[in-house]
Amino acid sequence: MDIDRRDFIKYGVLGVGAAALLGPGATVSASESARKEDLGGYGSFMKPSGKEVHIAGHALSWWVNKFQLPLHIYFAPAIRQNVRAFRRVFQDLYPKGHIRFAAKACAHPEVFKIVIREGAGIDVASYYETRCALESGAPPEQLDLNGNCKEDFLITRAIQTDMLIVADSIEEFQVISRIAKQMGKSPRVVMRISGFELGQVTAEAVFTAGKWTKFGACLEDIPDFLKTLGSHPHVRFLGFHTHIGSQITDLDPYLAVLGKLIELGRLLKETGRNCEIINIGGGFPLSYVNREEWDRFMERVLEGYLASQKGDMSRIFIWHNRTGGFETGPDGRIDTSHWNDDKFYSPYPKEKMVEAILKGRVKVRGKSVNTVKALKALGEPALVIEPGRSLVGDSAVTLARVSQARKIGGWHNLLTLEMGVTSLGTALVYMPVHRWEIINDHDRKDPEPFEAFVGGNLCFSGDMLAKYKISLQRKPLRGDIVLIRDTGSYGPQFFASNANSFPRPARVLVDTDGRLTVMRKRDTYEEIFSL
Ligand SMILES: *Cc1c(COP(=O)(O)O)cnc(C)c1O
Repeated sequence: MDIDRRDFIKYGVLGVGAAALLGPGATVSASESARKEDLGGYGSFMKPSGKEVHIAGHALSWWVNKFQLPLHIYFAPAIRQNVRAFRRVFQDLYPKGHIRFAAKACAHPEVFKIVIREGAGIDVASYYETRCALESGAPPEQLDLNGNCKEDFLITRAIQTDMLIVADSIEEFQVISRIAKQMGKSPRVVMRISGFELGQVTAEAVFTAGKWTKFGACLEDIPDFLKTLGSHPHVRFLGFHTHIGSQITDLDPYLAVLGKLIELGRLLKETGRNCEIINIGGGFPLSYVNREEWDRFMERVLEGYLASQKGDMSRIFIWHNRTGGFETGPDGRIDTSHWNDDKFYSPYPKEKMVEAILKGRVKVRGKSVNTVKALKALGEPALVIEPGRSLVGDSAVTLARVSQARKIGGWHNLLTLEMGVTSLGTALVYMPVHRWEIINDHDRKDPEPFEAFVGGNLCFSGDMLAKYKISLQRKPLRGDIVLIRDTGSYGPQFFASNANSFPRPARVLVDTDGRLTVMRKRDTYEEIFSL
């Protein structure tokens, strides 16, 4: 069952117009409805009109009083809907497809329970992720163990529980084999591959399956490795894995690596074994903004930089007057033809990427073949995916209070929030693009949007929440509350810390029946300074 009208009505989101549009008894997915109303993926979640915005049926002030700010609110039906969408693609195009939720994108028992109930397994990379997945009800055979530094202890536990182990190197494969032999066990193992040379198919910044990566065994070493499998008869070697990186917006890198994995599968078959598993990892993108917004974003980067070269500093769009994904050549000129960095719009968001991969063509031993046909020719191995961001990224919003809006450098607005970058951790790693808005007194707008860089409240200068100019509907005042959309993956929890002895904020999960689960409560003084 999809999220249906009842959910919308419960949250009072459908205005008269939209309800009329749907007609009696009609069902519509949250995202479809959202597109109609341009609410992003939050159609059933937020009511962005009226005197006070309601989130999941509660007024903004209720949330603030109960949990304080900053606050992360997750919406369970959005996660369910995402898992179902991926499953539907597999049902339609390749029934031997399997989902393993990448735990690190949002590790929490309640989230694990949701995805497990929807039929997904979990991709784990530490003992506590493993334990949490098992205690949340994941069947051990649907747990895949990843990670490039698995301890002996973790390998032993994985073998005991009969999890699938993704060996990260040939050296690690030998360790797994040795431990399994001592235990008298026959673990299921696949090999993670890297060392792909894909040239310009994707940005270096998001490519973790190339030569310069700490992950995976090098593609070139696999033929020799396969010859050694005979010395490890107790290991059930089932196939190959790769994970290209995160927020992979283009289809080509997936097709390129999948073609290579299928070629490796054929090599494996030539040793007299079956290739039972091909795992293409995660990285399926979210569209954080729509196509026009993304095009405009890139234009603004360019315009700002070019204007600055002519002495007009007022239009600079990226912090420090950097050029984003436009690189400058040795002659100091900016290459405007190519955005060589993360993109925040994709024509293939979430499950659409898997659909495009399955409908696309891969190159196997020089021949271009439809993906499904190529997999069938390999004996129809299980096709495993490890989506993280694409299952949870658009399931959450982050709320934070405005500290100040001020001028810097004589030209630019800087907005500071009572929240550190550790609560939007992706901003530590790259420059994530999100939709921002002021959520109190939501309908009041200035004639012109207010544009500003955004800094956090921590005492180091890397604490920048937006290194590009975000756009708000009016000039924010001290005490206003801003909302950041699509913060469900990595951001709110991956880097959470007590930097500057600020409490880590609360995280709350809301379900359709109105049930709230506090995923993490806000730290107290005693907790911050406890042993
Ligand atoms: C992080 C990770 C994923 C998930 O990546 P997303 O971009 O969140 O989909 C999948 N597989 C492995 C091995 C990972 O490390």
